[in-house]
Amino acid sequence: MLNYQAILEEIHESLKNTENTGEVASYISELANISKDKFGIHLQLITGENYFVGDAAEKFSIQSISKVLSLAKAFQLVGNDLLERVDVEPSGNPFNHLSLLELENGIPRNPLINSGAIVIADVLLSNLKNPKEDFLNFVRELTHDESIQYNEKIAESERVTGFNNYAAANLLKAYGNLHNKVEDVLDFYFHQCSIMMDCKQLTNAFFVFANKGKCLKNIQHLTSSQVKRINAIMLTCGFYDEAGEFAFEVGLPGKSGVGGGIVALLPHYFTIATWAPALNKKGNSFLGMQALEQFTTKTRLSIF
Ligand code: GLN
Repeated sequence: MLNYQAILEEIHESLKNTENTGEVASYISELANISKDKFGIHLQLITGENYFVGDAAEKFSIQSISKVLSLAKAFQLVGNDLLERVDVEPSGNPFNHLSLLELENGIPRNPLINSGAIVIADVLLSNLKNPKEDFLNFVRELTHDESIQYNEKIAESERVTGFNNYAAANLLKAYGNLHNKVEDVLDFYFHQCSIMMDCKQLTNAFFVFANKGKCLKNIQHLTSSQVKRINAIMLTCGFYDEAGEFAFEVGLPGKSGVGGGIVALLPHYFTIATWAPALNKKGNSFLGMQALEQFTTKTRLSIF
């Protein structure tokens, strides 16, 4: 039996002392003030055991990690019809890139780049009665935690500098792939990105993807086929133009966010979340990537 606690501590200790060349995201001003020294890891086994180290219980803005949760909700609501409005191919481009969107007539490459997630937000707006409230409740249900909230300051701070996302939404609108008003869709999108969670809560929320669609409370939220597809999208598109590298080094489906979080999972075995705010050049957590590489190397637990 592996000594998971010892493994997490070893990883934490070794990385805490290496030079961190990453930088905290500053294009969203509210994120710029977060200390580069924060570093936490939480592991949750499918059997219910939990192990953690460092700042694993401190909340941070989940940012793009929320795109997996909004995709799950949209899949639950409209099923495969979703695929008429967003593709499932890796983009090989940064998360906020626009050129492909124009070349491909307003159909985003996948739901985990910004333009794709904006289409998903539009689907949720059209299909939920009280979109922001209902989506938050979905996240709370999956996580089994009523305390989860949006961070209004972060959402507002992203809105005032969100020119790239406005450009993406306007382009989508011009191609007829946005049904609601640009302002309303982006308001929802900026809120979903602002959700605050800690590493433990992320492993709870993503339990559903490791457990064939059943959450911690054993309620079936997604079919096992939907979960298979969402995991495939995470593996191929979860790290933008570093998705290949993540599959190569870590070998797990996962998702990063510019708040410095990463969550990854091995179906039927575990979910793991890391938080370290300094990002590498591709916008993924510098320490988080390395921590997960060490974890799957030391435990030999990966999908490959
Ligand atoms: N809210 C961020 C943005 O739209 C999300 C990006 C990310 O986490 N990669 O720019």
